[in-house]
Amino acid sequence: MKVFSVAGYHHTGKTTVVIELIKELKKRGYKVTSIKDIHSDKFTMEKIGSNSWKHAQASNDTVIARGLSETYQIWNRQLTLNEMLSHLDSDYVVVEGMKSVALPRIICAENEVQLDELVDGTVFAISGIYANDHDKFNKLKVFKSKEDIKGLTDLVIEKVFPVLPLPKLECCGECGMNCREMVAGILAGRNTREDCKTDRNLDIEIKIDGKNINIVPYVQNTLKDVIKAYFNNLKGYNDGDSIDIKIRK
Ligand code: SF4
Repeated sequence: MKVFSVAGYHHTGKTTVVIELIKELKKRGYKVTSIKDIHSDKFTMEKIGSNSWKHAQASNDTVIARGLSETYQIWNRQLTLNEMLSHLDSDYVVVEGMKSVALPRIICAENEVQLDELVDGTVFAISGIYANDHDKFNKLKVFKSKEDIKGLTDLVIEKVFPVLPLPKLECCGECGMNCREMVAGILAGRNTREDCKTDRNLDIEIKIDGKNINIVPYVQNTLKDVIKAYFNNLKGYNDGDSIDIKIRK
């Protein structure tokens, strides 16, 4: 799954860029989902006093609210990016916000002061209000969210790679860098996605003819859950035991 973020300060045009990118990627046949990071402690999808709210109060755990045209799954806590991704199955995930995670980023800004503060090696394009009067910032191309959306989408397809397994600040360091440095290295062409060592240390390891196969967290979790559910019924298996399966030719 390829994941990138559109980040920047409030009212700099992030949502417009996200919407146009979703539409253009979908037009090109990709399956696209999006994540909107919301910085308000007042935000809730629930109506206090509703029946589903009462379910959540009683269980203090996940609640699914099913209506006639929409179904919501509500967790009573903030999920990590990896947890959210494990529930998605898309070609591209567009994240609006989440500045601290190690993802390739498009920055939306109003002026150079904001760009000087926000642009680092993880940024591959600039857009938002700044694009009204500029077409370049240092070496980065600046895209108008509507007129230049085809060019920006081409760049997303060229630059964005399968998400790193630990795209957070506390990285494993197995590659000799942190994940943000790896993102910057890949975007600059100094590294490749295969330089991330941790894909080989995920919870579930699959080899085909002895060759390690990288699997995205969504598939990994699904496969792990199915296998564990089966083994839970077998005598001799205790939750947490490791399982080795080999299918011969
Ligand atoms: S090995 Fe991968 S997950 Fe670990 S720090 Fe490097 S890039 Fe990040």
